[in-house]
Amino acid sequence: MRLIDHWLADGSEGLPPAPLSPVFDPNSGEVQAEVPLGGADVLQRAIDSADAAQPGWAATNPQRRARVLFRFKELVEAEIDSLARMLSAEHGKVVADARGDIQRGLDVIEYACGIPHALKGEYTQGAGPGIDVYSMRVPLGIGAGITPFNFPAMIPMWMFGVAIACGNAFILKPSEKDPSVPVRLAQLMEEAGAPKGILQVVQGGAEMVNAILDHPAIAAVSFVGSSAIAQHVYSRGTAAGKRVQAMGGAKNHGIVMPDADLDQAVADLVGAAFGSAGERCMALPVVVPVGEATADALRARLLSAIAALRIGVSTDPDADYGPVVTAEHRARIERYIQMGVDEGAELVVDGRGFRLQGHEGGFFIGPSFFDRVKPHMRSYQEEIFGPVLQMVRAESFEEALKLPSRHQYGNGVAIFTRNGHAAREFAARVNVGMVGINVPIPVPVAYHSFGGWKRSAFGDINQHGPEGVRFWTKVKTVTQRWPDGTPDGGNAFVIPTMG
Ligand code: NAD
Repeated sequence: MRLIDHWLADGSEGLPPAPLSPVFDPNSGEVQAEVPLGGADVLQRAIDSADAAQPGWAATNPQRRARVLFRFKELVEAEIDSLARMLSAEHGKVVADARGDIQRGLDVIEYACGIPHALKGEYTQGAGPGIDVYSMRVPLGIGAGITPFNFPAMIPMWMFGVAIACGNAFILKPSEKDPSVPVRLAQLMEEAGAPKGILQVVQGGAEMVNAILDHPAIAAVSFVGSSAIAQHVYSRGTAAGKRVQAMGGAKNHGIVMPDADLDQAVADLVGAAFGSAGERCMALPVVVPVGEATADALRARLLSAIAALRIGVSTDPDADYGPVVTAEHRARIERYIQMGVDEGAELVVDGRGFRLQGHEGGFFIGPSFFDRVKPHMRSYQEEIFGPVLQMVRAESFEEALKLPSRHQYGNGVAIFTRNGHAAREFAARVNVGMVGINVPIPVPVAYHSFGGWKRSAFGDINQHGPEGVRFWTKVKTVTQRWPDGTPDGGNAFVIPTMG
């Protein structure tokens, strides 16, 4: 069986044997490789190398560090097709979507190529007699990233692109479900000229995550995954004195106003609800039409769009979406569909039981659509993370606004309307971190920052963009005085003031 190993500057030789976890081919359902579930000994080896490499990297001027990122971007672009196939083969998302996963990560690498500008500090000339004050951003040292299965290229690049550009060494713990692309990215970073030890990959599950959270040499941890684990990571990491950002789950709503362009809204909703089999934290699994007439018109159009969806193997260029990541995850989605039925929602399209001819062992599931979902239902309150669209009918704009605002998650939300005032009002008042106006998946571009509210994010500094630079650096402020030699007659026992 093929082994997807750690990527350590000093190799994995001599490490004690670790339990192995299967990596499935979601198209066939077969195990295609195994990954070791490492622990503290593997992490220590990574930390020793990171510790040795980081001071020299931090001392390398930012323009030279940026050149390594430029080169990395070129290397990834040169093999984006094979990387997209590698990603698709472990995750199950279609190849075109896998390319998008890599490209959105590269966007952050491009942002990180501008790090000399982003790291410029602040300076005050003449803050007092002969006194100047300046602030600089310095790297933290060693940072770690713990990433989910659903974006195995983009999310690692969100983190390590900025962290490394800022002068840190970075240890990545990718999802054990699709670990190949992260390893390849680390190899390419080294090929691009990053010193050995600046980007390493440690494989594992909960034991490795806890080892990272407890290790005193790691200054900061960035996490993306489900909310229960995000909260655990935030609590344990901050208790150990680390800076932690921990992004969690989501349940994004799409509000459809009576004046919306319904054809455009339906095309957007279906793509955002079912693309990548709904396994996106910025998917739109809840649609909220305002008014019964809007709801009925939307339902009719949604049904024909859903009926036209093509489910296929992830390499099929005509497939809209492929299998979900594991059989276990499919079973979880099916349990939520049953829960919706039991709670009294109207299951209009049932995707359970779908099998793709010739690929009966694959983890495929058809699209499901519920109407008349109510806010008290557990299947509405929790994240399903599959190809399931739930319709909650609202009578008014105010009622629609309350639904995402009061939901436990607050990652993204969208409104479809032709009314600028309604859109503006919605964007200002909705209690959610990322808002789309006629944009179904409002993931901010790389030079802005990504982050939700409420149980979608623990900690208060967002991913990538200027917030990413803040997360991966700390500020040092120098107050310097160069007296001209004239005694100033000050009282050294009183707190100095500039007045
Ligand atoms: P997950 O929480 O199961 O796993 C995330 C990471 O945590 C993995 O690296 C995993 O190995 C590790 N982990 C798993 N169990 C653990 C435990 N008990 N203790 C410590 N670490 C553990 O998430 P997933 O299934 O890989 O990803 C899907 C989830 O991620 C969804 O909830 C989705 O909404 C969320 N997500 C959020 C964002 C965001 O930015 N808010 C982005 C993408 C995905």
